[in-house]
Amino acid sequence: MKTSKHSTRQILFREAKRGKPEALLPSPGEIHYLWWYMQGSIMDPDVRRRLRNAWGFCARHAWIALWVESSFRHSFLMGPAMVYEDIIEKAVRVIDTRGPMKNLQILAGLRERGNCLLCDMVSEENKRNNIRPDRVLRGQDRSELRRFARRTRGYWEQWACGRCSGDDTWVRCRLHLMEDARNGSISEITHHRSMLHELKKHITAYSNGFRWELRGTATAHDMAAMIGCVGWCSGWKPLFRILDHDEQTRND
Ligand SMILES: [Zn+2]
Ligand SMILES: [Zn+2]
Repeated sequence: MKTSKHSTRQILFREAKRGKPEALLPSPGEIHYLWWYMQGSIMDPDVRRRLRNAWGFCARHAWIALWVESSFRHSFLMGPAMVYEDIIEKAVRVIDTRGPMKNLQILAGLRERGNCLLCDMVSEENKRNNIRPDRVLRGQDRSELRRFARRTRGYWEQWACGRCSGDDTWVRCRLHLMEDARNGSISEITHHRSMLHELKKHITAYSNGFRWELRGTATAHDMAAMIGCVGWCSGWKPLFRILDHDEQTRND
């Protein structure tokens, strides 16, 4: 029985799958840009501001960025941890907004300002496409991200959006929370607020764990917040597709 070892929630992740996982494969142009991004432009104040304004990247590029960086850095995700610590701090400020017109305020606060940086850069990079073939292969290897996600799954599953996964829990990613706000259907903001505070606590601990004096202090729960933050900002479906593909490969 293939399904006997899966929890109900994992089976629903499988149902959330849309399209072929191959469609997510990073292109040479995407890998080329991400390679340079990882070499330092991630620390550029302008780039950081753009990422903060856009809540990271679009759904495709958020997961591809984590995928490619995991592969090149063997899951040493210091750059993304710092970026998302920044972004989630902003999310906490928005969600802590109190007073009248709460739905509208949340909607305005969570909207992205500006395009996805990778969408803007990559069309140019794809035209040049002069990246070394070995680097492309390395960037397209998703096994590090899958290992990282599998290892921390017991902790990030609780943060996975009920709409993205199709299992209808109250949990929402930013995009689906905005959809609820638009419909005026956020009945209880407290859960979302405490979830974001929890994400912030764990992504901060994960990010701090890269400091020399705090090395080794980050737990699997803290690491899981890396997945949780990307999922909250950009939606979860691409991750489910990456993991579903993995399950199928192992079962075949
Ligand atoms: Zn994009
Ligand atoms: Zn969602």
